[in-house]
Formats: sequence, C-alpha cells, structure tokens
Amino acid sequence: MINLHSPVTTVLGDKGTKRKRITEGLGIETVGDLLLHFPRRYVKTGELTRVAELEQGQMLTVVGEIVHSEVRSHTDRRTGRLAFRVESLLSTDGPSLKMTFFAKHRHTADWRARTLAVGQRGLFIGQVSSFQSSWQLTNPRMVLFGAGEEGDPDGEASWIKDVGVFYPIYPLTKGVESWDLQRAVAFALTVLDDLPELLPDAVREEFGVADIRQAFEWVHAPEERDQVERAHRRFRFEEALVTQLVLGRRRMAVRALGASPRTGGQGSLLAAFDARLPFELTAGQHEIGAQIEHDLAQAHPMNRLLQGEVGSGKTVVALRAMLRVVDSGGQAALLAPTEVLAQQHHRSITAMLGDLAAGGMLGGADEGTAVELLTGSMTRAQRTGPMSRMASGEAGIVIGTHALLEDRVGFADLGLVVVDEQHRFGVEQRAALTGKAVSPPHVLVMTATPIPRTVAMTVFGDLETSTLTELPAGRAPIQTTVVPLLEHPQWIARVWQRVREEVGKGHQAYVVCPRITGDDLEQGEADQLDLDEDGNLAAPTTPPVPLSAVEEVAAELAAGPLEGLRVALLHGKLPPDEKDRTMRAFAAGDIDVLVSTTVIEVGVDVANATAMVLLDADRFGVSQLHQLRGRIGRGGHPGICLLVSHAGSESPARERLDAVAGTTDGFELSRVDLAQRREGDVLGKSQSGFRSGLQTLRVLRDEDTIVEARGCAAALLAGDPDLLDSPLLAVAVADMEQSRQSDFMEKG
Ligand code: ADP
Ligand code: MG
Repeated sequence: MINLHSPVTTVLGDKGTKRKRITEGLGIETVGDLLLHFPRRYVKTGELTRVAELEQGQMLTVVGEIVHSEVRSHTDRRTGRLAFRVESLLSTDGPSLKMTFFAKHRHTADWRARTLAVGQRGLFIGQVSSFQSSWQLTNPRMVLFGAGEEGDPDGEASWIKDVGVFYPIYPLTKGVESWDLQRAVAFALTVLDDLPELLPDAVREEFGVADIRQAFEWVHAPEERDQVERAHRRFRFEEALVTQLVLGRRRMAVRALGASPRTGGQGSLLAAFDARLPFELTAGQHEIGAQIEHDLAQAHPMNRLLQGEVGSGKTVVALRAMLRVVDSGGQAALLAPTEVLAQQHHRSITAMLGDLAAGGMLGGADEGTAVELLTGSMTRAQRTGPMSRMASGEAGIVIGTHALLEDRVGFADLGLVVVDEQHRFGVEQRAALTGKAVSPPHVLVMTATPIPRTVAMTVFGDLETSTLTELPAGRAPIQTTVVPLLEHPQWIARVWQRVREEVGKGHQAYVVCPRITGDDLEQGEADQLDLDEDGNLAAPTTPPVPLSAVEEVAAELAAGPLEGLRVALLHGKLPPDEKDRTMRAFAAGDIDVLVSTTVIEVGVDVANATAMVLLDADRFGVSQLHQLRGRIGRGGHPGICLLVSHAGSESPARERLDAVAGTTDGFELSRVDLAQRREGDVLGKSQSGFRSGLQTLRVLRDEDTIVEARGCAAALLAGDPDLLDSPLLAVAVADMEQSRQSDFMEKG
C-alpha cells in the first residue's frame, strides 16, 4: 500500500534516469516530499497564452495551437545524407512562433508531423530567438493536450488526457519536466487512499481551512485561482499551528519547572534606589516595572523580552528588577555581549547606585550590595575576589561577558539573569547561565533591535514581550542624511566640515568604519557585512574602492580634514585597558572625534556626542545602522548622522540607506531588514535554536495566520495539554520538538 512515506519511485513509473534526477536533483525521497513540492505557478490550459513582448533569449512557457506543420528534407551537412525536419507554426495570443524538429528518418518526421497536426494544442517551453524577422522557439519541450498516440519514437512529446483548467509549473531540475512531476502527483493522489489529517475537524471548521486531500488537489490541480490560495492557507495554518503548539508546550514546561518567587521580602534596596533616581520614570518604565515585579513574584520563571529603542531606558528597568531580586535575598547577573559594554554597564550601574553599590564596604549604605564585574580579559588573580563574593552571595549584582558562562563560575542563589542585546546571544548561552542557578532563574532579555510581533511570537514564542515605546524626556531628534560619493565625491569635504562645526559647538563625534586596518576584518564582526540570498557575503558594491579602516581613517583625518581636533581610535583588537581608557576619555570630553569600528554599537552612552559619520555605510545592516545612530542625540542636543557610501543610486544597498535616512521608527526598519534578508537568517539558529526555520510560513506575510494559530494552540493545549484527542497532531508536534531539541543539543 502506498502512503506518504513510500519511496517516490513507487509513483514514478519506470524511467530510471528520471527517477534519479527527481530524487537527487530535487531532493524528493518520498511520496510525501513529492506532494509537498508545490508548483511555482500555473498556466491556463483553456486559452492561448497572452504573449505581449518577446525578447531574444527569453525562456517562454506558453499554451499554443499548431496552425501549420510540414515535413521538409535537406542534406545533412556533416554526413552528406538526406535528412528530415518538421517545421511547425505555433500560434499564441500574440506573435506566432516557428518551431523546427529534426529527424534522421522519414518515418520519424512523419510521425512528428502527425502529432503536431493543425489544431493540436499543448504546452510549449523553450528559448525564444529571432531569425529573419520571425520568432522561433528553439528546441521546445512540450506536452500535448488530448489522448495522443502511442509510440513516441524520441520520447519528446507527452500527452495529457484529462487536462485541467490550470497546468502546474514546478520548480525543476535538469532533465525533469513539469509534466513528469504533474503525472507522478496525479498518480499519487489517485492511489493514496488514506491521507493523514492532522487538523481536528473542529479546528478546520472554526478557521475555515481545507482538509488535507482537498488542499493537495487544489495546490496541484486547481480549477479556480482561489483554490491555490486556500490550499496554501491550509499548509501555512498547519505549520503555524504545530509551531505554536511546540512553543506553547515549551512555555508550559518552563512553568512546570517552578522557580523561587522573588517578592522583594524585607529588602529596601529598590526603594532606596528609587528615592535617589535623578529623574522620573516614564509611564512605560513604570508599567513594565510593575509587570516584572508581578512576574518575579510567581513560582515559575519569568521569560520576558524587553524591547525598546536605544536610549529608551531599558537598563534602568533591568536594574530595578535586579534590585528587587537582591531585596528578595537572591543574586542577579547581567550578561553583556562585549567587553566594552560590560565595563560600561558596570560603570554606569555602580554610578547610578552610588553608595548602594558599596555593600559590605566601609562607607557603603546599610542596604547596599556588592556589584562585581567579570570579563574574559581579567586575569585569574583579578577574578578570584569577584568569584568568591559571587559564590558566597555577598555580590548581589554581577555584570559580565561570556566569562560568566564558564564552568568555574558559581553563584550562591542566582535569581535573575538579564541578557543585554539578545541578538548576540543564542538560546544555548542563555541556557548555560540559567543552568548555574539552584532552581530555574527568572530571565529578562533586553533588545534594542525591535522585533516585529509575529517574529517575537514565532521565534521567541516562549518569551512574553514588553516594549518601551516612548523615549525619556531630553531625547532630541536625529537628522540622517545619505552622502552618495559615487555621484558627489566632493561632498566628503562637507562631511568633515559638519564634524568640525559640531566640535566647534563643544560637542563630540563618532566616525565608524567597517574595518580596523586596510586588509583586516574585525574578528567576530563579519556579521556586519550583508549576506546575499544564499547566505554568502554580498559582493562589495564597488570593488575598486577599498573599505574604510579605522587606523588609516584616524591618521588621515588627524593629519588632514580634522587637523587640530583631538582624534582617537577604538576597535576590538586593542588591549582591554586601552579600550577602557579611550572610552573614559571620550566620555570625559577629552577626545573630540572617536574613530571606531562597531564596538560602539551597543550601549555606549556619551550624551555630548551629537554627530556620527558612517563610512561605507552600505556595509552595515539596516538594524545595525539604526542601532549605531542611537549613540547620538542622547543629551538633549539634536544629532546628525551622515551615511557615507559609494553605492550607486539604484542599488539595493542605497535603498537600505534611504530607508534608514527616511525613518527613525525602529519597527518599520526591522521590517525592511526582514524583508531584505532570507528569513532563515532572521530565524537563524543563533537566535532561535531552530536550524531549518520555517517551511511554508513567512513571518511577515502570514502575520494573521500566525496570530490565529497561536490562539488556536492555546485553546487546544488548555483542554488537552498532551493532545491526546488529536494523535496525529501530537505526532507532528513531537517531531518538531525533537528536531528542535536535537538542533539544540548538537550545538552544546
Ligand atoms: P537603553 O538601555 O534602553 O539604551 P538606558 O537605560 O541606558 O537606555 O537609558 C539611556 C539614558 O537615559 C541613561 O543615561 C539613563 O540614565 C537615562 N534615562 C533612563 N530613564 C530615564 C527617564 N525616565 N528619564 C530621564 N532619563 C532617563
Ligand atoms: Mg542600554
């Protein structure tokens, strides 16, 4: 009996080489794979194809009708023998096309002419060329409509007896024609009597989705256009539902683990901190703060994603959560993606806390705690103190990089993990840190890269999300302008003049370059370059122009256009103490212009900086550019951001830059970003722990379906958490759980 798991060869007939091409070329192994290999488009079989304009060399797929055929003979130039050919004329709704078929023997030519009789209609695919002012279809492949005639001597023509209203055109590989697949699919659908239906009847009714057999028939052999849409909807809904069930069950499993409620207890650290905050919390900070307090007090772990523009005040929200946990007798860890950022967090958090951060020390406040820093560049000896205070519980707050994840690092009672900038950390790293707690800690993930709602639902489906939408008072607008050097090379002078003007007003500027030295790419930062559709590095937009590099640019500026200003440089390969010293000097206003790589991307906070020049800006991603410019305009002074690029005016790179210049709405930009990338990158394993991402679902296009499926999943799980009533659905969910689990394990 043939079922979806049967080898595809069971429905392919007997042509051996074709089988091999289908299995190897298209990766179709089973009958199920074949049915899930959807047509790319359809041609209408009932009428001649409307052909508007033809172009030399174009591949044409048309339904046409033979209006003339004749056998002619000629002398084969090579052999000197008499040879034959059939010349036919194919009419379309548009220009007619001449087709020539060569034959060695008279009888083959006669046979061919008979099959291509006047009035015969079919589907013809071939390359168009123009010869002596008439159009030709060269070496057409074809399928003819009608019962046909046995014994095609060259195997070139096929017949379809029961031609449908639309004929499917499939994604193909060499040596396989659409009709090979169409025939196999049609055969499969007649012999498969039992197609497993994952979706419960009630669900299909409620959400108006087609049953599985109907969907396969509609997608492969539609009779009306909207059947294709409805078929796709079913498959997308199914995938969305299974995904949401997996995520829903994961949320339930996390809840079931339990966590220590952190209610604040008798502690007064948070209250003391609030009392000395030099500003009012925004309404959003208040609201999310209350939500987090509520989450922390639960007996199951919080899993919350906190998103908000750069400067929206996420760190303050996170710090208040950390203090709450310390008040409850636990510890909190803040995981930062880079050394610079960890140091900066440590500095600003200790500064904000003042004597509250000097717990246990002379002069520290009674209710204070110790705040520790742990990074990779610290020596063993330097780590000893912090590590012992972490292990003893004396240190309430620990800030660090990946160094926090090392095995030797232990906590007395880790109650909260804050992850800054989610996109740099994978699920597995979150897991490594949460594994250090006695019972599962609460987790707060902060990101400044706004994540569209459905991406959050799909990829971070196990996280609840909160969004800070307003910027604290004192934020000034940033004016972003593209500086197109290809068209206006002389504008670069004006760029440096603007920087001088800002410095003249007592402000500071960043100049960001994609590289450190002329021939060196910053290590670990290759992701700043754009990936093309296949995940390869995109070709440089203008190869002859070398990419700007920090060391050269800093030297050139100091000696040239910015002579007399205090110019310094910063990049990831400098020794940590030098980086730290430079950042401090910049923060203190002792440096006018900081030339750097993207090390300043996240979190660096110098309120007096008002200008940013991004050199070779097209080398950065949309979200990254947005993130970078968030470094300026923080001190209540309007900011100016100049995107310098050699990209041509019509290029996709320029479109991205124009998008960034055109809006400061991070959500809008993250959609642009998402639309331009392959989704696999966005839903890539580094973020989600899922390897293959989604099959038929597209998070932007299918927002409505995802939202529906999420509601449906919640309802199903509420009544039947193990899906006992829907065994086939349960199997699909288990399969997906398992494949995601194994992806996760592989990386461990
Ligand atoms: P984010 O982490 O979202 O980029 P931060 O929490 O670092 O933002 O805040 C950016 C700056 O704004 C910091 O200097 C912080 O002290 C300040 N800030 C935060 N909340 C407020 C507020 N409610 N009012 C005024 N300033 C604030
Ligand atoms: Mg921050």
